[in-house]
Amino acid sequence: DSADFDEEIKSVCPFCGVGCQVSMKVKDGKIKHVEGINGPANEGRLCVKGRFGFDYINHPHRLTKPLIRREDAPEKALNVDPENWQEFFREATWEEALDKAAHGLVDLRSYYGGSAVAGFGSAKCTNEEAYLFQKFIRQGFGHNNVDHCTRLCHASSVAALMENVGSGAVTATFNEIENADLAIVIGANPTENHPVAATYFKQFTKRGGQLIVMDPRGQGLKRHATHMLQFRPGTDVALLNAIMNVIVEEKLYDRNYIEGFTEGFFEFRDHIRAFTPERMADLCGIEAEVIRDVARRFADANRAMIFWGMGVSQHIHGTDNARCLISLALLCGHVGRPGTGLHPLRGQNNVQGASDAGLIPQFLPDYQSVKDPEVRELFRHIWRGTEISPEPGLTVVEIMDRVYRGEIKGMYILGENPAMSDPDVEHARKALGQLDHLVVQDIFLTETAMFADVILPASAFAEKSGTVTNTNRQVQVARQAVQPPGDAREDWAVLVEMARRVGLDWDYDDPREVFDEMKMSMRSLHHITWKRLEAESAVTYPTTGPDDPGQPVVFGDGFPRRAGRAKFTPARLTPPAETPDDAFPMILTTGRQLEHWHTGSMTRRATVLDAVEPEANCSLHPSTLRKLGVAPGGMVRLTTRRGTVEVMAREDRAVSPDMVFLPFAYVEAAANILTNPALDPFGKIPEFKFSAVRVEAV
Ligand code: SF4
Repeated sequence: DSADFDEEIKSVCPFCGVGCQVSMKVKDGKIKHVEGINGPANEGRLCVKGRFGFDYINHPHRLTKPLIRREDAPEKALNVDPENWQEFFREATWEEALDKAAHGLVDLRSYYGGSAVAGFGSAKCTNEEAYLFQKFIRQGFGHNNVDHCTRLCHASSVAALMENVGSGAVTATFNEIENADLAIVIGANPTENHPVAATYFKQFTKRGGQLIVMDPRGQGLKRHATHMLQFRPGTDVALLNAIMNVIVEEKLYDRNYIEGFTEGFFEFRDHIRAFTPERMADLCGIEAEVIRDVARRFADANRAMIFWGMGVSQHIHGTDNARCLISLALLCGHVGRPGTGLHPLRGQNNVQGASDAGLIPQFLPDYQSVKDPEVRELFRHIWRGTEISPEPGLTVVEIMDRVYRGEIKGMYILGENPAMSDPDVEHARKALGQLDHLVVQDIFLTETAMFADVILPASAFAEKSGTVTNTNRQVQVARQAVQPPGDAREDWAVLVEMARRVGLDWDYDDPREVFDEMKMSMRSLHHITWKRLEAESAVTYPTTGPDDPGQPVVFGDGFPRRAGRAKFTPARLTPPAETPDDAFPMILTTGRQLEHWHTGSMTRRATVLDAVEPEANCSLHPSTLRKLGVAPGGMVRLTTRRGTVEVMAREDRAVSPDMVFLPFAYVEAAANILTNPALDPFGKIPEFKFSAVRVEAV
């Protein structure tokens, strides 16, 4: 009943890249209830996270005052109790904390040079905050060593899309599945990770659409799929090349489309001939006839889409995996028309927007290369004389390696948690402990903040305003509903104070002023104004004019590449960086669960979500549990070349007998203690989806 609330504020869910619009009902300065409203991506729907996951913002662990590490604090380590931190930190005024935070970075810059300092921003922040953060590092420290969690999620997809299509964003919204006849979902688990998008996928099958799910794990969409290809982990290229081999050999491709809109076909055709279904079947574990059937269906479909997730991207061959998906769509002309397209399902709520805003080491806003002198000149003009370094910066894992080697001595980390999210995380934790100066800006005393010298208390999604961009390229306004607790401040405002203290002449009074500056360099925001966003609630970029709501499908008349043509790039077979052997005979794969979000700092403090999934767990096939002599609910020990965790085992027929799945949200059984830091050479993304592991009964 509306009489039960003082206010109703419309905003955007802070969790996944679907970007569901929500209405927050506020009473006495607190959010009491959240429900879905009619946003373009969700049309009133929400999943359990969006509906029930908001009360973490009132959790007693919230940081309400700036904290400074005590001089007599114990050695930096993962050893701080969030309820009993006084042994390690003392409260400080904002003046003292900001001075100490900024001057520590300035001292390193003066003594060692700007490259001694690096920055991690966040895909949980707004576009304006992401823009300010990358500007802070580039303008304040003279290099491009600034990155965020896209590196751990879709960097390889973006590398392949930029190379072959000319743009890193989706070519069609996921809602376009309503116009498709067939869809492939590969290496993605939307019922858990993009639940509202999954509702569109299920409805698509209900009206007769063919849904082909390809994944080494059985998963929630399996029961809606017309075809389920449970292929062997790490054999994506073998399976996809075999599908394309059938399309090429049987001449099922769209000749007119290939001639009109692509380049590199003949070289690609010659390459693909070796990958017959018969040769690839044993490798990928899918029968040749099934591969032929799927290939013919995809080629025969009038309109087909391809969706993928981190099962594709988080491999040392992640870029090759994505290249295959792009080639598959190009072969059959399934791009640029309603009901067709390429859609990497984005993970965090604003990972698309943060990447668009330039929070990546090789690109300035809107993917404009730091190597391009004209681009640097544009930013020199907008940023009042700042010289941009022409050297692409270091990525997340590379930065942590340099920290470990003592070459980077100071970091500013905004809303990221590398002490949980980096591969081989004990390495990252050691590196964080070695830093001379670490500034962490966050809403909780995260595992990363435990290593900080200064902690700046920040704001949760409902406590600030700004724009965010979802997986569909839809720019939306997130609105402030309540005040940050205690002395916590909005992130953009903290960034402005930090910038002034490192000597930058920033004078923003409002996120809108930041947005207006972003528009000066970002063509994607052409015709999009803050006023318009407030009035229309969302605009899909690119938009052709002030009255155009934006284009759900792009590239119907060519691609943003040379001569308007997309490119076929052949992909070769690359084995995983480590393969099972006698010592580590099984395969570990990691990921998310419906109720928990990433490193768990928010959702494990949300009452309902924590009640539903309170305990660290892994999934093992019933036959594996029997062999181990472990009953469901018993404990197992997982060991890789990096480390060991002990965790409760669940019986799960969705994983194959040689596989274990471990979610990465639980600090008490941190999956990334086990994962392999080997990187894809193009996207620099770690191989989270494949490690050799030994599983034992405890
Ligand atoms: Fe939030 Fe994603 Fe769930 Fe929508 S689908 S409510 S954006 S977590």
